[in-house]
Amino acid sequence: MTRPPTATGSESLLIRSARVIDPVSGLDATRDVLIESGQIISIEDAIIADADRVIDASGKVLSPGLIDPHVHLRDPGQTHKEDIASGTAAAVAGGFTTVCCMPNTDPCLDRPEIVEYIRAKTEREGHCRVFSVAAATQGRKGKRLAEIELCDKAGAVGYSDDGDVIESASMMKTVLQTVKTTGKAFMQHCQELTLTKGATMHAGSVAMKLGEKGWPREAEELIIERDIRLNRTIGCRYHIQHMSSGNSVELVARAQADGIPVTAEASPHHLHLTHEAIESHGTLAKMNPPLREQSDLDALREGVADGIITILATDHAPHHSDEKRNPMCDAPFGIIGLESAFSLYHKALVETGHIDLPKLIELMTINPAKLCNLDKCGMGSLAVGGPADLTLIDPDHSWTLGDEHLVGKSVNTPFLGWSLGARPVMTIVGGQIKWEA
Ligand SMILES: [Zn+2]
Repeated sequence: MTRPPTATGSESLLIRSARVIDPVSGLDATRDVLIESGQIISIEDAIIADADRVIDASGKVLSPGLIDPHVHLRDPGQTHKEDIASGTAAAVAGGFTTVCCMPNTDPCLDRPEIVEYIRAKTEREGHCRVFSVAAATQGRKGKRLAEIELCDKAGAVGYSDDGDVIESASMMKTVLQTVKTTGKAFMQHCQELTLTKGATMHAGSVAMKLGEKGWPREAEELIIERDIRLNRTIGCRYHIQHMSSGNSVELVARAQADGIPVTAEASPHHLHLTHEAIESHGTLAKMNPPLREQSDLDALREGVADGIITILATDHAPHHSDEKRNPMCDAPFGIIGLESAFSLYHKALVETGHIDLPKLIELMTINPAKLCNLDKCGMGSLAVGGPADLTLIDPDHSWTLGDEHLVGKSVNTPFLGWSLGARPVMTIVGGQIKWEA
């Protein structure tokens, strides 16, 4: 059972004249919002009340707190890259009030003690809420089931072996059957291993030119096809992480049309960059799955516009600069993403006319909340009596991503120097202002 968010704030806040957008109720209008003791007390045209702090939000957008269902906080085990304190500081600096952390930690997040460790450490040091996505197999090795039922009781909000695929079809079938009994989702890192051994980047012209081993689209598509086929009769909630191939969008659309419970997420880097970024950014553009071609990028954006991809997730993957300075074959995969995510999604999807701002908010609030069953405790929406998790956004902001905006421990991003627009300017978690620009 997912624990409901606790009310944390004792102070009262009155936010005046914001454009309040709540995709769940369909509200999109200028409103005042009063917050007290960690809860939303009222949402009205005009509120007359005393508050410890009054915020003039005219010209700003007030959204349910942003939720990222896919981050790597590196805690426990690799806290030189990130930890719960630094990762959640990066999260609130990006407007996120909740993040869900992946299980590729050391020790692996595959048992209830580690779920409890993350819960307790977040309570002590966290700037936002953190929920655990626990491993589906022991040590993420794909051989034996992890303690899924016990992790569920401890508060895990989903299951994944992220960082690795579940290679065996037989184990995958068992995982889907077991996770189904929890009512949570299984989230797959889709990578057929025999096609990607030693691969560093997309199998295409740039890999050929640089003499790098390629990671072909088919390696993602084969796993998606296999899993959809297995899940056809099982009906577990199945979620595809960090989708990279344009063909994958078609596979998901077909499965959804057939009524199979499949969802998918896209990441900022796959919505903006192609394999050519490797030539300019080197290992800062080394991702797993890799950056692909313009046609894939276009298909992912279209997939969002068409309602096939319904969730946005950063795959925030902090790495120390020394590790990213290694040669291509030795450098780790992935980039950070929390601090710049909202503006990058806005640039890729809203500024290009693929979706509007209320839709973007839906993809970053209620949809990830539903993926992780967090909607059941009032997260992902704005309702009187619900948790006061809110993000204030300046839709007319204009800024250039610089070192000063990166507050986590790692700085591995190819987006430094990018001109960006709309940006979160205040993050309220449980009624407390945890960050403001
Ligand atoms: Zn992954």
